[in-house]
This record gives sequence, structure tokens and C-alpha cells, in this order.
Amino acid sequence: MANLNYKMNILVTGGAGFIGSNLVHLLIERGHTVLNVDKLTYAGNLSSLSAIENHANYRFVQADICDAPAMRSLFAEFKPDGVMHLAAESHVDRSIDGPGEFIQTNITGTYVLLDAARDYWQNLPEASEDEANHSSAIIHQPSKKSFRFLHVSTDEVYGSLGETGKFTETTPYDPHSPYSASKASSDHLARAWCDTFGLPVLITNCSNNYGPYQFPEKLIPVVILKALAGEPIPVYGAGENIRDWLYVEDHAEALLTVLETGKVGETYNVGGNNEMTNIDLIKLLCTILDELVPVSSDSSIKSYSDLITYVTDRPGHDLRYAIDASKIKNDLGWEPKQDPKSGFKQTVQWYLENETWWSAILDGSYKLERLGEA
Ligand code: NAD
Repeated sequence: MANLNYKMNILVTGGAGFIGSNLVHLLIERGHTVLNVDKLTYAGNLSSLSAIENHANYRFVQADICDAPAMRSLFAEFKPDGVMHLAAESHVDRSIDGPGEFIQTNITGTYVLLDAARDYWQNLPEASEDEANHSSAIIHQPSKKSFRFLHVSTDEVYGSLGETGKFTETTPYDPHSPYSASKASSDHLARAWCDTFGLPVLITNCSNNYGPYQFPEKLIPVVILKALAGEPIPVYGAGENIRDWLYVEDHAEALLTVLETGKVGETYNVGGNNEMTNIDLIKLLCTILDELVPVSSDSSIKSYSDLITYVTDRPGHDLRYAIDASKIKNDLGWEPKQDPKSGFKQTVQWYLENETWWSAILDGSYKLERLGEA
């Protein structure tokens, strides 16, 4: 897959979620053909893809990755050059309220997908005619040699750091929440399908993402939407937990880079080099909001930061995550492009300009309530 002129058929799972929808936009923009397979749980939202829904290179199929016959027939029909597997239950707080779905989708679903991919891959020709003739033809036929399965995971599998140090690709796994434990299990399965069956798997472990189309229950949209509603902005514990924030479009670019040029069997950590405590991030978002939509003079508050309210911490809340992303930079030349200051401002601006997108969600499946108190 190293010839970057190849236009691939890419099977994306979870493409109507936050990162998946941003990724699908990028893949279509780059001329690839995408089959988006998504169950459309509460977190899946087709309106995130309305701009490309009728594009000739895009197709959506509503299906559960745990449905083995459905997955097998999609592989046979679509004949992908690669898989980018993002479908997952992804919210730590929900994994505390109800771990069952996390075990089902993240572990069983990943197993089903890996096994369907293995069957498909084993029956591909060894090398396509283009590859055998060393041709640089733009149209690419899938082959056993060129096929790739990219398993998309999180830095949360590594557990919690103290005040210093960073996660590298060899940091031992030490997950603490049902979410991170289920993602760790799925990473082990992906690695086993590579080592045992030879399936060409690559794995990425990424830090916290922010940007457009993030479901309103996650930290950044919660802060923005609570502030706009004039409601208390909840801060878990003392707000001292540290996360490394990466702009979602940079993550999407990293995933495509790994699919195209990564080495089979390798893991790549992806991060933004942008550590912040939750309280500093929340205050920054309030400052941006003060600038973009100043609080009215007759309001009982002077700044959105007056709405900050400390609430009981999440059980098992990891203190600090930080990614050492030097491998992907040195080996594949990827590094984040987005300046965090403008990235956070752009994100606030996006939520201000896309009320139709988030108000439709708040009218239905989720109403900004607190989850995961255990
Ligand atoms: P998300 O919750 O926004 O989207 C997940 C998508 O998967 C949804 O569209 C949902 O409908 C779909 N889905 C869930 N169960 C399914 C099933 N059984 N079959 C088919 N589709 C199903 O998640 P996200 O934040 O976009 O994360 C995507 C991936 O990236 C996940 O694997 C997550 O673990 C990983 N990740 C996320 C972050 C982050 O900060 N959001 C960071 C690192 C890694």
C-alpha cells in the first residue's frame, strides 16, 4: 500500500461517530471509496455525513459488527483493500453504568470483524497483477500482500501516569475502566490475529480527541453546551486530571498515514503533545466563549467560568495520560498540524454554528445529564 496514488476501497466501521465521520470526510476528499458500516447506536449520527451522503464513492450500511454473516457478506461484496476499525462503545462513564455493551461490541465485535477479515484475506490472490508487473496503475486490486487491517484504539489501555513520563508503544497494558479494559482486550485480539494467522494488522493508540461532530456527552461539548444553556458546568473531583488533546482531523490524517505507510504488525501511538488539566481546559473554553458570545449585562454571572461547579469524581478516574508520539513522527513523518489554541477556538465556533446538529441530539437520546457515578 505504499504507493500513495492508489485509490483504495476502504471499509470503515463506526463512520457515523465522532472520529469515524471526520475520517470518512478525509477519505472521500482524498479520492478513496468508502463503505461505512455502523450500527447507529445513540452515538452514531448520519447527519455528520450529510455533505457526502450522495457522493459516488460513498456508501453506508447499517449493520452490527457482531453480526458475522453480515460482516462476511460485506467483505465479499465490497472487496476492500483495507479496513479501518473504529466502531466501539467509547464513553467511560457509560461503561460504568452498563459494561455489557462494551464487552459485546468492543471485544466480541472486534473478534467477529477480525475473523471475517481473515477469511476474506486468505482467499485473496497473493499479489495483484499491478503489483506483480510493478505497475504504478492508479486502480488497485486487493491482494494478500497489500491488504491492511487498521485497529483503532486508545491511550487509556496503558493506565494512569504519575507526574512524569509518557506512554510509549511498549508501555505495559494496565486498564482501569470497563471501557479501557474492553479496548485493551480488542488490541490483544488484533495482535493475536496478526501473530497467529498472519492477518496484516496495524494498531494505533491515540490520546483524547476534540473537534467537530463530537457527541454532546463528552467533556468539551458538555462544557460548551452547559455554558450556553447557563447551567452549572460540572468538573469531576478537583479537575486536576491531565489529558493530552489532539485535533480530530489530525487523528484522521494519522490513521490514513498508518494505513498507507505503516509497517504490518506494528503499533503507533498518536498524540497531540498538548497536555492540560481538565480545569485549565474548562477555563480556556469559558474564556473563548466569553470572547465569542459575551454574557449579557443583565445576567447573574460575569463570565461563563462562574458556572464551574465541582462534583464528585468519576470512580477509577485515571490521573494523567501523556503520549510519546515520536515513533509515528520518525518512522512515518506524521505530526499534528493544528495549533491547540486555534483548534479549541475553532471547535467552540463549530458548536456555535452547528446548533441544528447538536440540538437534534439533545431533543432525543441525551439531555446533558451526568453519567457514570457508579
Ligand atoms: P463514537 O462513540 O463517537 O462513535 C462510535 C461509533 O461506533 C458510533 O457511530 C456507533 O454507532 C458505532 N457502533 C457502536 N457499536 C457498534 C456496533 N456493534 N456495530 C457497528 N457500529 C457500532 O466514538 P469515537 O470517539 O468516534 O471513537 C472511535 C474509535 O476511536 C473508538 O474505537 C475509540 O475507542 C477510539 N478512540 C477514541 C478517542 C476519543 O477521544 N474519542 C481517542 C482514542 C481512541
